[in-house]
Amino acid sequence: MHELSIVSSIVDTVTESVAAYPGARVKEVRLRVGALSSVIEESLQFCYGIATEDTPLAGSALVVHILPVIVHCAPCGQDVELEGVQSFRCPKCNEPSYDLRQGKELEIESIEIEEDENDHTDCGAASRHPEEK
Ligand SMILES: [Zn+2]
Repeated sequence: MHELSIVSSIVDTVTESVAAYPGARVKEVRLRVGALSSVIEESLQFCYGIATEDTPLAGSALVVHILPVIVHCAPCGQDVELEGVQSFRCPKCNEPSYDLRQGKELEIESIEIEEDENDHTDCGAASRHPEEK
C-alpha cells in the first residue's frame, strides 16, 4: 500500500526527531501534501493509526494540509494556482503550462510534542481553585 510506506517513513522521521526529548509524547504531526502527490488522506489517516501503535506517536493526530497545484504561466509572467489537477491550463489566459512550482510536496510541516507531564503541575494546581480570589 502506497500510503503505508509513506506513513512508515513519517513515523521513523518523527521518532528520530523526538528521541532527543525523553518522556515526550507526540501530540500532532502536520503534513504538507501537494494535490499531485496522489495520496488519499483517508488512507493516510487509516495507516497512521496502525503505524503509530507502540511508538512515541501513538494517539497523536495527523493533520494533512493539501496544497493546490501552482504552475508558472509564461504569457502571464506569474505563478498561477490551478483549479484542478485535470487540466494544466492557466485559469487567467487559458494557455497550457507544465512549469510546475507546487503540487508534489509530501513533507512534514511541523511536529507538536508534549513534554513530561510534571512540567504542568503548577498549571493544574492553579486551575483547581478558579473560584478563590
Ligand atoms: Zn496565464
